[in-house]
Amino acid sequence: MMRRILTIALFLFIGAVLSVLVAWGCETFSGESIVISYEQPAAPFLMPGIYDPPEDWTVQTWVRFKGLGVRGAWTTEMLWAGSTLGMSSDSTNRIRIRHYSGWPLLCMVRSDPFDSDLGIAAKGDVWAVGFEPPWASRIEPRYRGKNLPLRPMPVRFAANSVFWGFVAWICTFGAWRYRRWNRIRRGLCIRCKYELAGLETCPECGTSARPRRMEA
Ligand SMILES: [Zn+2]
Repeated sequence: MMRRILTIALFLFIGAVLSVLVAWGCETFSGESIVISYEQPAAPFLMPGIYDPPEDWTVQTWVRFKGLGVRGAWTTEMLWAGSTLGMSSDSTNRIRIRHYSGWPLLCMVRSDPFDSDLGIAAKGDVWAVGFEPPWASRIEPRYRGKNLPLRPMPVRFAANSVFWGFVAWICTFGAWRYRRWNRIRRGLCIRCKYELAGLETCPECGTSARPRRMEA
């Protein structure tokens, strides 16, 4: 029982690590398509429940990014015409920018340093805006920037951790256990596949054909 709990904990941990690495991989390698709208778009455009524009803002521009394992949205109170984001830093118009990554679910989030929700001091806050990886110079220039996120989205991150933990288990113990079960079922030696024909011990490698825990 204890061993089973430890195994589950181990694979959940592996799953969590894989979830982060997959999200960073998507951030690093995924391209993006960008859609800009100057009228309030239909709700799915902005990922309701994930990214919601602030209710008290007079939003004039809606922007969405999309790529494999990456999504992003920003809303701003100014008309944005495709210039660099830096232009908005002197503006009093507010802007809210969020970037999400992860697969199969988006599970990590970061804000952009230009996000109006962040104070000046928060702009170096890696928890909020992510960090620049050592390989940042290899990342193609794009609107999403070159930062990688550190902040997980709890429920989605947990779901991805279960998914990737299960994949890791399948690829290691799961495959091994299936092979073992399949050999017992077919009457073969579990170690060397020799056809036992009912023998108690494998004449090829000496493995007992009667393991203590029969899985067949
Ligand atoms: Zn054998």
